Amino acid sequence: MTALACAPGNAGTAAVAEQLGVDVADPDAVAALAQSWRADLVVIGPEVPLVAGAADAVRKAGIACFGPSAAAARIEGSKSFAKDVMAAAGVATAHSETVDNPARLDNALGRFGPVWVVKDDGLAAGKGVVVTSDYDAARAHAMTLLDGGHPVLLESYLDGPEVSLFCLVDGRTVVPLLPAQDFKRVGDGDTGPNTGGMGAYAPLPWAPEGLAERIVADIVQPVVDELAARDTPFSGLLYAGLVLTADGPQVIEFNCRFGDPETQVVLALLATPLAGLLHATATGTLAEHPPLEWHPGAAVTVVVAADGYPGVPRAGDVITGAEAEGVLHAGTRRRDDGAVVAHGGRVLSVVGTGPDLAAARAQAYERVAKVHLAGSHHRTDIALRAAEGGVTVPA
Ligand code: AMP
Repeated sequence: MTALACAPGNAGTAAVAEQLGVDVADPDAVAALAQSWRADLVVIGPEVPLVAGAADAVRKAGIACFGPSAAAARIEGSKSFAKDVMAAAGVATAHSETVDNPARLDNALGRFGPVWVVKDDGLAAGKGVVVTSDYDAARAHAMTLLDGGHPVLLESYLDGPEVSLFCLVDGRTVVPLLPAQDFKRVGDGDTGPNTGGMGAYAPLPWAPEGLAERIVADIVQPVVDELAARDTPFSGLLYAGLVLTADGPQVIEFNCRFGDPETQVVLALLATPLAGLLHATATGTLAEHPPLEWHPGAAVTVVVAADGYPGVPRAGDVITGAEAEGVLHAGTRRRDDGAVVAHGGRVLSVVGTGPDLAAARAQAYERVAKVHLAGSHHRTDIALRAAEGGVTVPA
C-alpha cells in the first residue's frame, strides 16, 4: 500500500495526505517522525529545515531522503558560500562584494550601480533584495540590513530576461527539468517591491535552442562537481536562477529545493511520475532513470496573495472557490469549522494549461476569477509579454 503524509501541510495537502505535526526546523524531530511513520522516502520541501540539517538527520536514521545535507544547502543559505563555489567552478555570476561595516558602505556603493543590487547575505525568502537605480533607496536598504546585524552583499546588475532552471541532482548526475520564468515584483509591469514570486510560465517560447543543456554544461554540472570535490555532494533539487545576458547565462542565485511558483508550471507539464524521480534522486540512481517525458503545450500560474503581502499579510480571511481545478494551496489553513482561511503571504497558486501560452494564460485567469479572498491581489500580466512574442534575449 502507498501512503502519503505531509508535515506541517496546509488545507490543500489535507485533502490528499495525512497531516502530521512537527517543528520542521528541528532535524531530530523530523527524523523521529519519519521513523515512527515508517517512511520509505522523505522529501524535505523548504530551505529552512534543509539548512538546519533535516536531510542529514533523516539519512542518518537510514531513510532515503530527497534534499541536500546542511553543508550542501549552504549554496542557498549563504550567498558568500555560493559565490565562493561558483568562483572555484569557473561559473559566470554577478561581481559582488560583502559589506559588514557601515563606514565602508558609501565607498562600496560608489563602485557599483546604477543600477544597484543590494542583498541580505542569508536566507530572506526572496524579499531581502532591492534592485534600484536610486542611490538613496539602495543605501537605505543596506543600512536597514546592517542595523539589523546582517552583512550586505552588493552585486553588479545583470541585464536580460531571467530563467529558472530546476535540476534533479543525485550527487553526480544532473537531470534538468524545463526552464521556466517567474515574476518577482509585486505589481503589473514589474513594479513595486520584490516578492517570493507572483506567477510563472513554461516553456519559454523565446529561449534559444538547447538552453537547458547549455546551462547544465556551463553552470550546474561544474557546481555539482565542485560540491562533490569538497566532500559535500549535492543531492536533491538544485535550482539555478539566471539572467540571459549578452555575454551568456549568468547566475543570480542557487536554491537548494523546488521553488514557488515555477514548480507549479514545471510539474504541470511533467508526464513522468514524480515520486519515482524523487526516489531515484534520493538513492543515487538518476543515471539509470529513463529520460523525462513532457506533456505538450504550456502552463501558466498566477499567485493570489493576501492583503499586505509582501509586507505583513493579513491572516484569517475566509477563501471561497479554493477547491476548483487548478488551484494549489500555499498559505492556507482549514479552520475547525471547516472553512479554508488565509494563513500566509502567498495564499494560492492558480494554474492553467493549454496548447500555447495564450491559452494557458486564459485558463489560469478564468480560474483566478472564481477564487474569492477579501483584500487579495494578483498580477494581471503573468506571461503576457511572452505570449505576445515580446521577450527577447540580448544579442
Ligand atoms: P534573489 O533573492 O537573489 O533571487 O534575487 C531576487 C530577484 O532580484 C531576482 O529574481 C532578480 O529579479 C533580482 N536580482 C537579484 N540579483 C540581481 C542582479 N545581480 N542583477 C539583476 N537583477 C537581480
